[in-house]
Amino acid sequence: MLHQQMDADIAARADWALRRQRGIPNNRRLWVLACMDERLPVEEALGIRLGDAHVFRNAGGIVTDDAIRSAMLTCNFFDTREIVVVNHTECGMMSATADQLVEALREKHIDLAKLSLNPAVPELKLSDPKAFGKWIGMFSDVDATCAAQVELLRAHPLIPSEVQIHGYVYEVETGRLRAPHQILGRRVNTAQEMRA
Ligand SMILES: [Zn+2]
Repeated sequence: MLHQQMDADIAARADWALRRQRGIPNNRRLWVLACMDERLPVEEALGIRLGDAHVFRNAGGIVTDDAIRSAMLTCNFFDTREIVVVNHTECGMMSATADQLVEALREKHIDLAKLSLNPAVPELKLSDPKAFGKWIGMFSDVDATCAAQVELLRAHPLIPSEVQIHGYVYEVETGRLRAPHQILGRRVNTAQEMRA
């Protein structure tokens, strides 16, 4: 009967809209931390669709206070059971050093010592201007960075210890994911060199 189908559709839509109120987790019980880069197709790379995950993106896909805030909420209150970190090759976070950024901001007459990091929490300041370099989180090795983000999340007291946490590096050159330090091309080259 048509009305049964209509009622089922309406109920499904209500479940969708009221997920948080009804305690329905995302489909995969998954939280994703990824770089904001436009070359990184997070959903496509992970094979996930609308409804499957909470996706958090920032510059670099690194563990910041807001990443911890979001991961804490989804893991402790929205029944998320898995975290996947996705960093990528050719990331803009590797295109300059923290010192270079600090210098560039100084040239724009921005006083890093007085800067309020979060307009809603004006007391959140970097009292030591050198801490800005840590805060901005520039990096030079995407594999090491990816592994480090996983460890930071695993060690954080606000992330439940039973949450599964893994990291992957997306290669913008090949459009593929790999585990950190798992560079197939280099291994092939090494084997060729050994045969030579
Ligand atoms: Zn990036």
